[in-house]
Amino acid sequence: MRVLITGGAGFIGSHLCDFMLEKGHDVICMDNLITGSTDNISHLAGKKNFKFIEYDVTEYIFIEGKLDWILHFASPASPIDYMELPIQTLKVGSLGTHKAIGLAKNKGAKFLLASTSEVYGDPLEHPQSENYWGNVNPIGPRGVYDEAKRFAEAITIAYHRYHNIDVRIARIFNTYGPRMRPYDGRVVPTFINQALRGEPLTVFGNGNQTRSFCYISDMIEGIYKLIESDENYPVNLGNPEEMTINQFANVVLDLIDSDSKILYKELPVNDPQIRQPDITKAKNILNWEPKVSLKEGLLKTINYFKKLYDNRK
Ligand code: UDP
Repeated sequence: MRVLITGGAGFIGSHLCDFMLEKGHDVICMDNLITGSTDNISHLAGKKNFKFIEYDVTEYIFIEGKLDWILHFASPASPIDYMELPIQTLKVGSLGTHKAIGLAKNKGAKFLLASTSEVYGDPLEHPQSENYWGNVNPIGPRGVYDEAKRFAEAITIAYHRYHNIDVRIARIFNTYGPRMRPYDGRVVPTFINQALRGEPLTVFGNGNQTRSFCYISDMIEGIYKLIESDENYPVNLGNPEEMTINQFANVVLDLIDSDSKILYKELPVNDPQIRQPDITKAKNILNWEPKVSLKEGLLKTINYFKKLYDNRK
């Protein structure tokens, strides 16, 4: 297959590039590098099945030759990033998705949208299943991401219904692993990097809000199984092992054997209080569920950040 991956130099996008190349596919990676980095794909430079194009997918996309799949992963994705880049976030979810799915129509390609658990907002149902419509504040600070992704889902399904495009929608819950930026502001890289430096771990609010964390290799496998399926409607992908942020902070401190303290800071506006994917649908139709334990995934991620420091020293 010949595959275009937008956001291919980002965290999930670059792991997807690796995976698709290993499966023997041709990969075109497109990224404007505003939050992605060539560091994530430099090991692929010169491979004959791999091509990188620095480009903003909110502009008209031209690709020569056939395409079998477009995997649309371009978007700022950490709360800090999308609050610093609100217009770009809205544009890539709306205009960017329009361009990418328009290209799919033009090429007769299939289309996968990287959506998010943020479409559920600060959820009033728990755990969140695909049938839940969400609780999103459209004009809150997170609205730029949440509404962009909700629009992206809407246009993806509209192209499916009205233009018969074969689409997939992955609702991706918190995912972590190597290649996250140490300072992207998300809780996993933040706590690891603070603990490694002996700095206090910044817990927002009272730390009783919950998340569950999926290791990147599990996520990539889930995405690939979704590609191979024939499910056009959204599928939750994530790890259902839920914990509070306080508990998570203690797991990180234990694994790093750090004596960092906890520093409580103000809770960001509209920060979801609870989040846990209901992955019944993914289990049933994809025969997928995460395999990597939190400890195993975190140790790999910690090693990645340790090496990053050693190389920079
Ligand atoms: N969080 C925290 N300290 C940090 C960064 C995040 O306590 O330094 C909390 C944040 O308030 C949220 C959770 O950790 O409740 C997960 O935040 P993240 O930014 O990783 O992603 P989100 O799930 O909110 O999209």
